[in-house]
Amino acid sequence: MNVRVKVFNRDGALVGPVEVDRVVKSDEAWRQQLTPEQYRIARGKGTEAAFCGTLLDNKRHGVYSCLCCGLPLFASNAKFSSGTGWPSFFQPIAEANVATHVDRSYGMVRTEILCARCDAHLGHVFEDGPPPTGQRHCLNSESLAFTDETELATLADPATAAP
Ligand SMILES: [Zn+2]
Repeated sequence: MNVRVKVFNRDGALVGPVEVDRVVKSDEAWRQQLTPEQYRIARGKGTEAAFCGTLLDNKRHGVYSCLCCGLPLFASNAKFSSGTGWPSFFQPIAEANVATHVDRSYGMVRTEILCARCDAHLGHVFEDGPPPTGQRHCLNSESLAFTDETELATLADPATAAP
């Protein structure tokens, strides 16, 4: 099964949507790839402790990708300080790259956000964010990997490679 998402090319430019294969792995394979804490959050829908995430206060310019599969998810130009203790963004890098799912756990109705390519749990989206979208994508640092804007070419997706 495929998904259509935006990806970086070898010039470090965001292109697409292009069709890419979904990333599907066994729990055992994810456990081998991730630390126990990363696995608990990204594959087990856990939440990291507030104000403890390594990317909360990251002010560098660049891109936040899925820790599990490398899909670009959020950019620093949409990051804002929400005061909640989790990295927050008012929009994803591309709507197609983030999937949503109604989450009725813990007696609440929330909108879970997931990586569109590998179903990694990223966090939740709320409607109390700043302009221009009014959305607050509340994320776990443990689900993300940061790449500096000078190194975006390292995110190049094989789908964009020249023949
Ligand atoms: Zn992913």
